[in-house]
Amino acid sequence: MDIDIDTVRVARSRADCVLRPGEAFLGGGTFLYSEPVPAGVTGLVDLTGMGWEPWSVDGAGLRVAGTCTLEELLAGPGRLGASSDGPYRGLGIVGECVSALTLSGKVARTATVGGNLALGLPAGSMVGLFAALSAVAVVWTPEASTGSSQPAGSREVAVADLVTGAGRVGLAPGEVLREVRVPAAVLGQRTMFRRASLTPTGRTAAMVTGRAGEPAPRITVTASVSAPLSLHARDHDMLDRWIDWIGSTGAWYEDTHGSREWRAAMTRRLAHEALEELGGAA
Ligand SMILES: Cc1cc2nc3c(=O)[nH]c(=O)nc-3n(C[C@H](O)[C@H](O)[C@H](O)COP(=O)(O)OP(=O)(O)OC[C@H]3O[C@@H](n4cnc5c(N)ncnc54)[C@H](O)[C@@H]3O)c2cc1C
Repeated sequence: MDIDIDTVRVARSRADCVLRPGEAFLGGGTFLYSEPVPAGVTGLVDLTGMGWEPWSVDGAGLRVAGTCTLEELLAGPGRLGASSDGPYRGLGIVGECVSALTLSGKVARTATVGGNLALGLPAGSMVGLFAALSAVAVVWTPEASTGSSQPAGSREVAVADLVTGAGRVGLAPGEVLREVRVPAAVLGQRTMFRRASLTPTGRTAAMVTGRAGEPAPRITVTASVSAPLSLHARDHDMLDRWIDWIGSTGAWYEDTHGSREWRAAMTRRLAHEALEELGGAA
């Protein structure tokens, strides 16, 4: 590991989150420390020093901090969702979504939800998880061009809209992914998960997450496409037409973990299984 940077600052307050020239945010570092330092980055600002509560749940719903580790997500919301008919059964897919990442236990202990979302990799299963749960990301925006150290405000963006392409995320320089919020109404809804990879422990190449609800089950596709896509699928015909449409837009993703054609076929199969399981019309 060759980490060629000059400084690491631990953020303790919001003012500390204002980036100085050459700085980038650090979550768990499992990606940043496994790759060459991104061009132009000379310093890191460690967000884990902010001391955010990893997750909380109340009448408004579930909040998960950007610094919540995958291990904490599993032990908290994942455990809440363990009962198949409880008030948090929508969280029943948390465990599968965490397992869909090809992480060792050691990496999962430090990798964060915010880091996974901010990377925007097709195999970033936190995207499929929170998109399926209609979560909104709360983003802290940096101060506008005044140079003041007082940060400005925040904005909200649907997680489904946050990732715009493979490794492309709608975060402007200096924006912090503070937390994701899952609305209370969604927590009790039935959800399901399917994934495919070329080998049993291989990187996720197609992932389908689904949620029962009105007006029809919502099916979300990730990993086989560059950016998440969702549909309220009334029936299997509608689902087929949508999957054909995805193909017509050239959106299927391809890399060493699976060809376009295979991912398209897997996605179609998994999406139909998902709709079946969620009780969609034939
Ligand atoms: C063995 C191994 C297997 C992996 N498998 C997968 C996989 O299957 N799928 C996958 O998606 N990834 C995978 N990864 C990549 C990575 O570990 C995960 O995506 C992880 O969730 C990243 O989180 P992190 O906190 O470690 O991010 P970091 O490495 O700390 O940061 C990643 C990026 O996000 C930015 N960032 C971090 N937190 C925030 C925040 N709160 N707000 C704004 N920007 C932020 C950083 O500036 C950086 O650009 C793997 C990594 C390893 C080492």
